[in-house]
Amino acid sequence: MAKILYVEDNPQNMRLVRKILVASGYAVIEAVNGLSGLAAAQQEKPDLILMDVNLPDISGLEAAQRLKTAPETAPIPIIALTANAMHGDRETALASGCDGYLAKPVMKTELLNAVALFLKKSHADQPAAVPANTPPQPSHALE
Ligand code: MN
Repeated sequence: MAKILYVEDNPQNMRLVRKILVASGYAVIEAVNGLSGLAAAQQEKPDLILMDVNLPDISGLEAAQRLKTAPETAPIPIIALTANAMHGDRETALASGCDGYLAKPVMKTELLNAVALFLKKSHADQPAAVPANTPPQPSHALE
């Protein structure tokens, strides 16, 4: 069972996304701000992190930068989630070290597709875990 850390300060978003992920068979770890998100990432070593950008302490982008500069958390894929679907947000998120980007409100299918894609990509870094008949993954699925 893949373990997903969701860093989110909005209880409604947390409930909704957790419900979607748990219903799809993922284990969800919750953190309600950036610093507790960093601590949870280091302790739990999740397979994937969903990172809200607007958090009450450090921003989700700063948290992503810190995770990507620490050797033990750098390989964990991070998908940034933000309500500010402004032009350039995607580039800012990717420049901060996030591997992907989703604009809120997050749609169920879009979320599950992105989660599956990044879990598959991170496992593809370990060639032995990839079945020989796995088709090539689209590299622009989030654009
Ligand atoms: Mn927020």
